Amino acid sequence: MRDHDLLVVGSAHADLLVGVERRPRPGETVFGTDLAVHPGGKGANQAFAAARLGARTALLARVGDDGHGRMLLESQHAAGVDVAGVLVGGAPTGVALITVDPSGDNSVVVFPGANHRLSPADIRAAWDLVRTARVVSAQLEIPLETVVEIVRTLSSGSRFVLNPSPPAALPAEVLVACDPLIVNEHEARFLLGTGAGLEPRDWALGLLSRGPRSVVVTLGAAGAIVADGRSRTCVRVPSPRVEAVDTTGAGDAFAAALGWRLGLGEDLETAASYAVRAGAAAVTRRGAQSAYPTAEELPGP
Ligand code: ADP
Repeated sequence: MRDHDLLVVGSAHADLLVGVERRPRPGETVFGTDLAVHPGGKGANQAFAAARLGARTALLARVGDDGHGRMLLESQHAAGVDVAGVLVGGAPTGVALITVDPSGDNSVVVFPGANHRLSPADIRAAWDLVRTARVVSAQLEIPLETVVEIVRTLSSGSRFVLNPSPPAALPAEVLVACDPLIVNEHEARFLLGTGAGLEPRDWALGLLSRGPRSVVVTLGAAGAIVADGRSRTCVRVPSPRVEAVDTTGAGDAFAAALGWRLGLGEDLETAASYAVRAGAAAVTRRGAQSAYPTAEELPGP
């Protein structure tokens, strides 16, 4: 019996946003306005998004024994995420310090904190959780060695989905486990290097040749390219046209929705058609988690 549709293994941190007239120069102090504190981190975002859509979701993450950690646990719990696998302690909760200038441009400093303490031993200790999920989804705001341990722990019946963000060189052992590898344009170019090719289709096929069973390249308003190594197909899935207000967290909503629908047995193209709708809905409202659509707003096909 599969306990969870989706297990997200990843980061959870507090986003501290402050508005500034302009960024300080070295040695200078500027006053900011409107401090806002939100739950964030790619792992927490994905788990939150999937649970809002109706997926039976669990999060495996590490937070500190502090106020930010409690805020993260509460918001996950409120969304319906199973937080029994969230580990507490070892370091303070991670924090993203975000300054936003009047043009809307962000500058971000991330203190990884407890996210960098999520270790391979933590994955081994959560053996049951990892082996019984239909789909296991990860990103790279946790140590790469921890992601390697996830693919070593997976059962043959579980599917592994990876969004390599922030991008880093991936060992072959991780690449071949991805089904799919989900990248945006920036991540695709990073992984492919100078031989990237001109078209998104070239990037998808180039990445597929590196070993993943399937690849998805997200293209913002243009939707996504879906390349499946089994069926040898490569198609574009268009996104609905929407009025974009804030694109923060769109990729996390997309990855969460895609992972969930794949676990329900949909093929990659059908799951991606649902995921582009989740990504598009997320950009119509401000923020990340607060912008994610509910099951009522985004009924399945
Ligand atoms: P990331 O947030 O990782 O950079 P993208 O910008 O490619 O990822 O967005 C992920 C998905 O969100 C897209 O595939 C698309 O479905 C949706 N999306 C993002 N921006 C828009 C937009 N402006 N209009 C419609 N859909 C969007």
